[in-house]
Amino acid sequence: MTDTFRPAARLEGLAVSEILRIGARAKALADAGHPVIVLGAGEPDFDTPLHVKAAGVAAIEGGDTKYTALDGTPALKAAICAKLQRENGLTYTPAEVTVAAGAKQIIYNAMMATLDAGDEVIIPTPYWTTYSAIVKIAGGVPVLIPCDDSVGFKLQPAALAAAITPKTRWLMLNTPSNPTGAAYDAAELQALIDVLKTAPQVWLMTDEIYEHITYDGFKCVSPVAVDSAIRPRCLIVNGVSKAYAMTGWRIGYGAGPAALIKAMAVVQSQATSNPASMAQAAAVAALNGPQDEVAARAASFAARRDLVVQRLNAIDGITCRQPEGAFYAFASCAGLIGARTPSGDVLASDRDFCSWLLESSYVATVPGAAFGLQPYFRISYATAMAELEEALDRIAAACSTLTRA
Ligand code: PMP
Repeated sequence: MTDTFRPAARLEGLAVSEILRIGARAKALADAGHPVIVLGAGEPDFDTPLHVKAAGVAAIEGGDTKYTALDGTPALKAAICAKLQRENGLTYTPAEVTVAAGAKQIIYNAMMATLDAGDEVIIPTPYWTTYSAIVKIAGGVPVLIPCDDSVGFKLQPAALAAAITPKTRWLMLNTPSNPTGAAYDAAELQALIDVLKTAPQVWLMTDEIYEHITYDGFKCVSPVAVDSAIRPRCLIVNGVSKAYAMTGWRIGYGAGPAALIKAMAVVQSQATSNPASMAQAAAVAALNGPQDEVAARAASFAARRDLVVQRLNAIDGITCRQPEGAFYAFASCAGLIGARTPSGDVLASDRDFCSWLLESSYVATVPGAAFGLQPYFRISYATAMAELEEALDRIAAACSTLTRA
């Protein structure tokens, strides 16, 4: 029989993420007995809080195991509205809120619901890889604006203004950012909103999934709270994955104008229907329950960030900006490009650097190329302190063996 499989054109250039590919290589090395340390995954290393797990178990045992309302139970939508009021000072009604299987599906629903072929979406770069992939799947065109460490990895108003065309439908913002940890303060957001005010066809998607993981007293503020003029064309994206260590439960949510929310529900209704009933019950417990663990965990990430940034900057050829939030460090390895390894290989790119680190020192990191900006590499420091110290020892030792041009 001949193989007649042919992928759709919309998948061209898309693949399972590089992060997963690196994870698979790291696992193969570990399975072969090597002492691998993975600094690649975007996942908190602590466990889902006990009261949240208990709510999921109670939902299963209580028979909450059937289809629910399409895009979120009334209880979860109420908990999300209460969260937006309590933490962001924003009043949203349940008709302006939608729930899906992760923030990722929220973004997918939004792009599928709004993009026509050729519509443009502005994505500050480096970006979470999924942004551009979803835009492409939905038939849109990602417009990537490089924002390197000289601008703190943040989109500048003039660069935004220059990128807007009549075809621009969305600006995607992620604050604090994956992969850089950079976060926008109110004044920076206001400056971007001021540009958007000159282009009423452009909507703003603001991904606030790392809002509670910030350092040095930095307080995240939603663009809608900065200037309510953007509210009629803003989709707030958030979820429980990062704040409550609930990545596996798959619950994310969006808040925005009711017409958009309704269109997103149409997409979801023909794709996945409701998110898992018991996961929704657990998310209610997370959002309505005690919030003290959230802050305590952010504090534990702060010590790890300090260690990682300080140790990276001590390595010749590497520079790392201090991130305001999230649990990623995005370091430049520009000073090591062109260097020669002890076995004579030349590190021509950040991909070369990361794969050499993995193969020679068994430390898995992700090249900046995976996020659209080179030459950098990302370290996820949602890892135990002792492991981080060992990983940084190995990175420093490996870099000291390089012969620089
Ligand atoms: N947004 C960003 C910036 C992320 O890094 C992630 C997870 N890696 C998500 C959204 C998705 O989170 P989830 O689908 O688990 O809610």
